[in-house]
Amino acid sequence: MAQTKDYYSVLGVPASATQDEIKKQYRKLAAKHHPDKNPNDPKAAERFKEISEAYQVLGDSDKRKQYDQMRQLGAFGGFGGGAGPRRGPPPGAGAPFGGNAQSFRFEDLGDVGLGGLGDLFSSMFGGGAAGGRGARSRGPERGQDVESQLSIPFRTAALGGKVPIELEVNEECSTCHGSGAAPGAKISTCPECQGRGTISFGQGGFAVQRPCPMCLGKGTVPSERCPTCGGSGEVRSKKKVMITVPEGVDSGTKIRLKGQGARGNRSGPPGDLLITFQVEPDRFFRREGLDVVAPVPINIAQATLGSKINVKTLDGKKVTIKIPPGTANGKRFRVRGQGIKRDDQRGDLIVEVQVRVPEKLTEEQEKAMKEFAEASGMKY
Ligand SMILES: [Zn+2]
Ligand SMILES: [Zn+2]
Repeated sequence: MAQTKDYYSVLGVPASATQDEIKKQYRKLAAKHHPDKNPNDPKAAERFKEISEAYQVLGDSDKRKQYDQMRQLGAFGGFGGGAGPRRGPPPGAGAPFGGNAQSFRFEDLGDVGLGGLGDLFSSMFGGGAAGGRGARSRGPERGQDVESQLSIPFRTAALGGKVPIELEVNEECSTCHGSGAAPGAKISTCPECQGRGTISFGQGGFAVQRPCPMCLGKGTVPSERCPTCGGSGEVRSKKKVMITVPEGVDSGTKIRLKGQGARGNRSGPPGDLLITFQVEPDRFFRREGLDVVAPVPINIAQATLGSKINVKTLDGKKVTIKIPPGTANGKRFRVRGQGIKRDDQRGDLIVEVQVRVPEKLTEEQEKAMKEFAEASGMKY
């Protein structure tokens, strides 16, 4: 049964109660339902919240006056004027509150001179809007987006390619086909929500709809729950997806794969898969914009006398670089069009020579070096 309480019935006082009586009653109820006294009791916590909200208004004589005016106007569905038991909104209505409150907007409060209280109620609505999703929970619901990080090799990032990824996804339980019922179980209307799939909490027209915890929004409960999925209708399973990596992605680049996320509920469409790439470092290459830099060691003789060196490109092709005599450490040689691809562009391969000084020399090398030194007029 949906709660149709107004602030007076929340506190259990007549509308004619004095401020003192309201205060006394609030203290009594608050002490009884305080969360400290009822640890791990969500019902008490909910009740305590209700009481506090009601007292915030009724405990303040100005706010109470405004509230009384609105109450008489019947602004909030479900109480006053014999509106009868309030039912939730029809499935798919999307309003977080039921009854005639659907046509009532709290922004309108200002127009009837109830601005101050309107603010108070709008702030309560902030929470209501978030919970309001529950009111739609019986219609088709789009699956959630799934976010995942994917580590890819440097060359795949630079040139594009395909990489497999394994995802944990919710799939329809094959035992119960999503119903959550054990084979042969009897299905009956959920006693908690009376088949609406949502329950409301809060008071009067401010009630907020939440998916029913007993039937998980289905509106029905089986006499026996499905042993495979425990009644949720879903099982967690692993799914392999081949990701096409666009050329030129960098660490932090995101892509969205439509329909590869979590499956939808009640024939809703699936969500999307959002991939964030992490580019693994490469042994040979590092990135500089669209260029790739490859440090290549050469010895002092190669640097001094000049030489030809072979270097592998990103694609694995061999290119020959001519090192001129007298090349300094750190000098760069550019190989056009062998860098990272992106759109219609392609960067260059930059070969950066690193002149290595030998740690040990053979006797012959040492002799040659000494001759070199003497020829340069060096004393040692
Ligand atoms: Zn099942
Ligand atoms: Zn239910």
